[in-house]
Amino acid sequence: MPATSLSVRLLAVTPNALELIYAAFRQCYHAGYVGDMWDGLVAGETPREKQTAFVERILASGHESPVEHVSFTFAIEGVSRTLTHQLVRHRIASYSQQSQRYVDASDFDYVLPPALAKIPAAKARYEAFMAEAAACYRDLQGLLAVGGREGQKSNEDARFVLPGGVETKIVATMNCRSLLHFFELRCCMRAQWEIRALADRMLMLCRQTLPVIFAAAGAKCERLGYCPESERFTCGKYPVRR
Ligand SMILES: Cc1cc2nc3c(=O)[nH]c(=O)nc-3n(C[C@H](O)[C@H](O)[C@H](O)COP(=O)(O)OP(=O)(O)OC[C@H]3O[C@@H](n4cnc5c(N)ncnc54)[C@H](O)[C@@H]3O)c2cc1C
Repeated sequence: MPATSLSVRLLAVTPNALELIYAAFRQCYHAGYVGDMWDGLVAGETPREKQTAFVERILASGHESPVEHVSFTFAIEGVSRTLTHQLVRHRIASYSQQSQRYVDASDFDYVLPPALAKIPAAKARYEAFMAEAAACYRDLQGLLAVGGREGQKSNEDARFVLPGGVETKIVATMNCRSLLHFFELRCCMRAQWEIRALADRMLMLCRQTLPVIFAAAGAKCERLGYCPESERFTCGKYPVRR
């Protein structure tokens, strides 16, 4: 049951993402029918620079809903249940998470918080507790099996002793608008370190794939040019609004 680390893989992006967002924006302001221009768009008849400039201009005006037509799907592993509990609070998204009923956790991996890893005594205490939690889980599985509850039936009750640091895997899909909002909240230095690391990794993948939408994305302060937090909570990167 070793300590593990974050891994994020971009599984899928809506095909023809730029063309799709451009077509959705165009339909709002164009008398014609974008269904008729779609094949030409996909064939490259409208230069990408022209599409990019149009999308950037309209997006900057605050008209954001057309970017909802494009979604990103990520496979995430090496994160804690503590992280995914925060992640799934973002409701404008879809999730599929590894089950603690169907998947045996008797030899679970865990996330070791960097601050604990730096203090030998804290790291040793944490690791000892993880080992004890795993031992307790296995004991409970055995005791439940004696009572006739095996496999999934024992996992579903033994899992009550699993700690928040237990490693989990999850597939998450968000559309671009939801992602922009997620990055504003979770790339902020006020966000908890583990979900911030995940958000930073997801943002990097989004920027590489669709820079027109994500080049300037990030914590809320990047868009506002000031910190919306109070003096007490600001990280100091931008001035606090008075
Ligand atoms: C630094 C930080 C600290 C936090 N601390 C806590 C905490 O102590 N306790 C806690 O419980 N949570 C906490 N949260 C979680 C936070 O309250 C949100 O649940 C989480 O960030 C998801 O954000 P969201 O609701 O905006 O996202 P989504 O659920 O993805 O929603 C996106 C947007 O859709 C709209 N929306 C969605 N659902 C509704 C609805 N039902 N009604 C109206 N509008 C809706 C809103 O505009 C919302 O911003 C914290 C978050 C952060 C970033």
